[in-house]
Amino acid sequence: MPKDRSELPPVEELLTAAVTGLGGVERPGQVKMAQAVGDAIESEEHLAVQAGTGTGKSLAYLVPAIRHAAESGDAVVVSTATIALQRQLVDRDLPRLADALESLLPHRPEFAILKGRRNYLCRHKMAAGMPEDEDDQLFDPREVSATGRMVQRIQDWANETETGDRDEIVPGVSDQAWRQFSVTARECLGAQRCPSGADCFAELARERAGEADVVVTNHALLAIDAMEDFAVLPEHDVVVVDEAHELVDRVTSVVTGELSESTVGLAVRRAGRLVEQGVADRLQEAGEDLRALLAVAPPGRVDTLPQSLGMTLALVRDAAFACITALGPRNKDKDDPENAGLRKAAFTALDEVHDTAQRMLDAFGPAAGGDGAGDDEDMDSANSRDSANARDSASSGGANGGGTDARSEEVHRAEVVWLEEGRGRIPPTLRVAPLSVGGMLRDKLFGDRTVVLTSATLALGGTFDSLSRQWGLRAGEWTGLDVGSPFDHPRRGILYVATHLPQPGRDGLPEAYVDEIAELIEAAGGRTLGLFSSMRAAKAATEALRERLDVPLLCQGDDSTSQLVKQFAGDPATCLFGTLSLWQGVDVPGPSLTLVIIDRIPFPRPDDPLASARQRHVAATGGNGFMAVAATHAALLLAQGAGRLLRSMDDRGVVAVLDPRLATARYSGFLLNSLPPFWRTTDPAKVREALRRLTADA
Ligand code: SF4
Repeated sequence: MPKDRSELPPVEELLTAAVTGLGGVERPGQVKMAQAVGDAIESEEHLAVQAGTGTGKSLAYLVPAIRHAAESGDAVVVSTATIALQRQLVDRDLPRLADALESLLPHRPEFAILKGRRNYLCRHKMAAGMPEDEDDQLFDPREVSATGRMVQRIQDWANETETGDRDEIVPGVSDQAWRQFSVTARECLGAQRCPSGADCFAELARERAGEADVVVTNHALLAIDAMEDFAVLPEHDVVVVDEAHELVDRVTSVVTGELSESTVGLAVRRAGRLVEQGVADRLQEAGEDLRALLAVAPPGRVDTLPQSLGMTLALVRDAAFACITALGPRNKDKDDPENAGLRKAAFTALDEVHDTAQRMLDAFGPAAGGDGAGDDEDMDSANSRDSANARDSASSGGANGGGTDARSEEVHRAEVVWLEEGRGRIPPTLRVAPLSVGGMLRDKLFGDRTVVLTSATLALGGTFDSLSRQWGLRAGEWTGLDVGSPFDHPRRGILYVATHLPQPGRDGLPEAYVDEIAELIEAAGGRTLGLFSSMRAAKAATEALRERLDVPLLCQGDDSTSQLVKQFAGDPATCLFGTLSLWQGVDVPGPSLTLVIIDRIPFPRPDDPLASARQRHVAATGGNGFMAVAATHAALLLAQGAGRLLRSMDDRGVVAVLDPRLATARYSGFLLNSLPPFWRTTDPAKVREALRRLTADA
């Protein structure tokens, strides 16, 4: 019998109905989490919940979220970091939940998925045959024909699709092909003015979202909605951030600006069709100066603005501004509907170039922003000193590398600029990003809605402090809850630290590590996921061990990661070695994964520009930069990596960390407290014996 809003069943009753409907078992952690989420929504207080794998955390937040939507009439937004979780929620959890709860609520819960505009086919761009943005000169003919085939596939699919959602295209298409048929939110003409506005896929998705009780989205769109002046998501007062340990990185990506010969070239091509040749040529020349400068500059963080770079950035900025001025008033579009799309695209690219160049100049203080005058120093020496500082900082555990002036500069610095090396067709690129997104999140995301943050990994070193600081939350503004895990970690898993091995060095994988890995894999009979801190180490281990072991050994890059994980899961004897995406993305329950090997503590590289700048900034403001940045990063990844071991109640196995610092370094307590409470040992004989027993039982 449908209920009136005023007589909705309590969260506990709805959860029982949901769990029964889905054929599961109610778990204490799940009940505790659902109650806490319900209470947080009611009291409008932010909540961070750590819920281990197997808790059933999706139901624990979806049930109170749906109840709140039914009660308030407003949507609840659920944000995830990965497409895999989005798909799981929309294709599996939510439809079954809607079936299970329908009879207890005033109406059947509705849900929708909403992505950024560039994920939907733009009918206007397709119909108008808007300009190809790509610089064909950069392509080799094979790539051009591969792109041509993808373009054809998109065109065929466009005639049939009902959603226009890029993810429907299987196999997927390249960004380059997709860009011919999509626009960013800034490039969009707006539904009112767009001739295709009435059947726009992105607008239809927004409409569907506007009627839903639960809107599933990603962290990037959540950030854009919170930070831009225009609303992207429907009206909402509650957000659930799942995979919340990824929030800061995703938000940082959204607000990172970039400048290269490609971004300037795109603006030149777009402006070139609409402004006088001479004005566009000026921007082209500035872009060429930038290309020449970046081609010879060493990659890395730029701490002081070399004069040459300052002048070039000012040239680029001013030339982009001249094009913007030459385009005329922005509202001229209404008299010029023919060219509206072209003008909007040109304004977007030019604004991007102008604003990013200005932002980079501003990053070095007010003196740099005016006439492009920086320090009288070339980029080479500015970067060399930077690398030395980064190294000093890492080796000294985060001590600030500069003197008083440098320290005072660090305190006031808000953004960091760095040069990223060119790769393949991607040219060297200058990037600028904020040192912290906490203030932004605090004002824009947490300001006027209730936020529930959840993940299997939020408590680092045993507390939520590290992440809550990064989110910009202050004491008293939020509560934290760890509902634990349904797994019996001390009885089902062993944490082995190989204290007899040498510390990992800079020169690749030590021979002793290769021997240790071989012995562990032999004892486990394969069944090993090797998580390496670099692709170089993963490949070196694969090469060395393929000759020594007679179990199949896969290495990331041999095939698509999803294909490799499938092969690994399908054959217990097979081992899989790889790096970052495997640390977080492998979910293989059962005996195929009995041993997780981690070669070294995954600190950020000392030359990681953003991490090293953040570390120095914390140190300059009186904090412990190493613990706040490097150790926190390592703890998060270690916990994620170790979390690959137990994926179901029946799983058992070993996490082997070869890096002895996990047991001996002064920061080891913090890292160990971030890991699940496995039984611990440093005895290689004991661990090999345990692996042999597990293999015999499997
Ligand atoms: S409204 Fe925007 S996204 Fe939609 S069809 Fe028009 S230009 Fe494309």
